[in-house]
Amino acid sequence: MSADTVSVTGWGRTAPTAARLIRPRTYEEAAAAVRDCGARGGIPRGLGRSYGDAAQNAGGAVFDMTGLDRVHVIDAADGIVLCDAGVSLHRLIDVLLPLGWFVPVTPGTRYVTVGGAIGSDIHGKNHHVSGSFSRHVLSLELLTADGEIRTVGRGTPLFDATTGGMGLTGVILTATVQLHAVETSLMSVDTERARDLDDLLARLAATDHRYRYSVAWIDLLARGTATGRAVLTRGDHAPLEALPKGTRARREPLAFRPTRLPAVPAILPESLLSRTTVGLYNDLWYRTAPRARTGELQKISAFFHPLDGVPHRNRIYGRGGFVRYQFVVGHDQEDAVRRIVRRISERRCPSVLAVLKRFGDADPGWLSFPVPGWTLALDIPAALPGLGAFLDELDEEVAAAGGRVCLAKDSRLRPELLTAMYPRLDDFRALRAELDPRGVFTSDLSRRLAL
Ligand SMILES: Cc1cc2nc3c(=O)[nH]c(=O)nc-3n(C[C@H](O)[C@H](O)[C@H](O)COP(=O)(O)OP(=O)(O)OC[C@H]3O[C@@H](n4cnc5c(N)ncnc54)[C@H](O)[C@@H]3O)c2cc1C
Repeated sequence: MSADTVSVTGWGRTAPTAARLIRPRTYEEAAAAVRDCGARGGIPRGLGRSYGDAAQNAGGAVFDMTGLDRVHVIDAADGIVLCDAGVSLHRLIDVLLPLGWFVPVTPGTRYVTVGGAIGSDIHGKNHHVSGSFSRHVLSLELLTADGEIRTVGRGTPLFDATTGGMGLTGVILTATVQLHAVETSLMSVDTERARDLDDLLARLAATDHRYRYSVAWIDLLARGTATGRAVLTRGDHAPLEALPKGTRARREPLAFRPTRLPAVPAILPESLLSRTTVGLYNDLWYRTAPRARTGELQKISAFFHPLDGVPHRNRIYGRGGFVRYQFVVGHDQEDAVRRIVRRISERRCPSVLAVLKRFGDADPGWLSFPVPGWTLALDIPAALPGLGAFLDELDEEVAAAGGRVCLAKDSRLRPELLTAMYPRLDDFRALRAELDPRGVFTSDLSRRLAL
């Protein structure tokens, strides 16, 4: 089992801290790593795609779970997979799509592990239909602070504390996941433009229920009457009969061939993403999008994971890195969404294509982020002057509207707002105090927010 002291960051590349990175290759090695992790404790880590400090632990141990990556059992008749938590969604799609099964929920990147997907209880473009990842987890095996491996089933307090629990209840070793049946590896996609925020909210509210997947890419640099203009892309898995006869796609309907572009270089000038360049990019992107197009066939990789085509895309913000800010407020809080979008537009944050969508019913995870309502996610360069104070103001606005920010994206929230945002926080703390009295599982996030 390798163990090196390295600098660890989240995907936003802010707030690096040094930790002993330990890579177990067996469950026994994982148990030994937890047992021997020392006074500063340890935290499991997947592929490090959470943006903030959730999977880092200054001065302590970080358990890199990607060495445990076996797919144990595939039930191809019922669409159930049992795999190690270090398996990536990329690998699952690669293995399962040719069998006619797709992951039930995928975030905007497929380079996340099953453990990370459960730890952050991730959501996808289908949240309004399918809920978050945990809804499809039938059971999991959890290595807890006492060195025991527990089988954790749905409907138990430990399951609800672990799904969205940011790795703080223990190390997920395996998970059994229910998959979604598909006939092809293509998506049938409808695209339309919304001229401003009111138009966008109205379109999403009126017609989202017709689509399994829905998202709006919003231009937060547009101002005046164009504030909140957006391009909606919505769709579903294409049935076999939608593929043109005589084509390669029809002959190989379940082929998975993601496109890969050149990587972003390691060193980029900070000025690359200025207000001017991002404004021009967003403007061009909006104007070249179709006003209304239906039934376009797109590859799964292009529809779900357009950013994965560019390796190291997180370098485009330069050395300073970036903050991913995501919040959700209730469906009846459209005025709060309008106020926040206006504030971000007036602040002129150089944000490349932010994302707005509607969440459906919540899942029971105590710290799981999605609740019914409107969610907005955007990237902001960390070097933007006055960013901390600006985001603190947005947090206040979100909390006042009864909303919350997403912990998997966070690296800066003030702890005093957390109880209002996550009403089950005290239950979470109580369960942890009982399960892990010595505080073995600790991260920079948990220390900062007193989780
Ligand atoms: C381009 C991009 C797009 C994204 N889009 C979305 C999106 O649409 N929706 C969404 O919800 N998220 C999205 N994310 C965030 C990402 O899905 C989550 O942060 C996810 O948790 C990352 O998984 P990971 O394997 O990289 O985990 P890490 O980032 O390494 O860890 C995330 C959390 O999970 C815990 N964890 C990891 N492995 C285990 C384990 N084996 N046992 C217990 N806990 C564990 C960690 O302790 C940590 O708290 C996106 C990220 C990127 C970079």
